[in-house]
Amino acid sequence: MQVYLDNAATTKMSRAAIDAMMPYFEEVYGNPSSLHSMGQQAKEVLDEARSTVAACLGAAPNEIYFTSGGSEADNQAILSAAAIGARKGKKHFITTAFEHHAVLHTLKKLEKDGYEVTYLPVGREGNITAEQVEKAIREDTCLVTTMTANNEIGSVLPIAEIGAVCRARKVPFHTDAVQAVGHIPVNVAEMNVDMLSLSAHKFHGPKGVGVLYARRGIFLSSLIEGGAQERGKRAGTENLAGIVGLAAALKEATDHLAENMAKVTALRDKLIAGLGAIPHSVLNGDKVSRLPGNVHFCFEGIEGESLLLLLDSYGVEASSGSACTSGSLDPSHVLLAIGHPHEIAHGSLRLSLSEYTTEDEIDFALQVIPTVVERLRGMSPIWRDKVNGIKPFLL
Ligand SMILES: *Cc1c(COP(=O)(O)O)cnc(C)c1O
Repeated sequence: MQVYLDNAATTKMSRAAIDAMMPYFEEVYGNPSSLHSMGQQAKEVLDEARSTVAACLGAAPNEIYFTSGGSEADNQAILSAAAIGARKGKKHFITTAFEHHAVLHTLKKLEKDGYEVTYLPVGREGNITAEQVEKAIREDTCLVTTMTANNEIGSVLPIAEIGAVCRARKVPFHTDAVQAVGHIPVNVAEMNVDMLSLSAHKFHGPKGVGVLYARRGIFLSSLIEGGAQERGKRAGTENLAGIVGLAAALKEATDHLAENMAKVTALRDKLIAGLGAIPHSVLNGDKVSRLPGNVHFCFEGIEGESLLLLLDSYGVEASSGSACTSGSLDPSHVLLAIGHPHEIAHGSLRLSLSEYTTEDEIDFALQVIPTVVERLRGMSPIWRDKVNGIKPFLL
């Protein structure tokens, strides 16, 4: 049995999204900027996809900008705020310590250029409060950017409250909603956001296509210069098939949101209950305000990479947390942010489910994971020292 439990890294495309895309590879392959019939046909399809996406998010079509994915949308939102901020003498950003690297690394670069960034500390439960944001806002704050849901530990942040605080203080607010869109309700009006990023491949759409939502009146600068596509804010011939796939996947996810959430949450809770029974383990992230598909544990005395490799050999495909940091030996910045010592942060396991995950697969994972954890602990001298009381247990 091969069980894919890494849907936070990327998802399998839905049949509806694939089918929707196919005609735009070989039938209607015109350039939406061309004046002839096939170009105009492509333009109509593009407009239709934009309207579909806007409707799913509670936005207007002219507030939707197609990008190459979540990373580009995050970069554009932050760099736009930096550009307009510099003109107004406002060079202070507020974010959290556990953002995705697309946000953190963009801000790090700005710090080198003389901007200041406040990184709000994340509580043990893996969340922040609107109060923390309010206290950090200054006269020269040009943007608050906090993710809607964390990609490693699955916490869902109080975005509507944070947005209300920002609005009251007249500070623009961006949210990286890449893990949230298609998985929990996302509505830009209800969430009080000015900018929002999403990515198709996290909700069964194609890779390499995303959206930056920017509320009317919000300043956007472009990352890529060239033609006048996306109202002059993102040059380059549109990835029409990808955009159509994104819209189809988003529509499908939105139409089935309630039923998918109920199904995935039930499987998630079964997995959490089973793994929670493993001694010296801890569930990370907010227990209540949590993505339906996220399970994230630390197991004491285990090295994350060995756990993943051994699980893979049994047919369980998982992650230690961020797909972007695996391959480096540094523990996850997210686990350090919630206060885990390095020793614990190394033994992490993220299992991310989707609506395609079956109960049989969860049962299989529940057989394999405890066995593998036990086997690895049995091989570890550090673990033996703990069992023999030579070293203390931390969990
Ligand atoms: C996956 C992810 C991104 C990056 O999106 P891409 O489309 O892969 O560039 C950004 N933020 C979060 C929270 C993510 O999970």
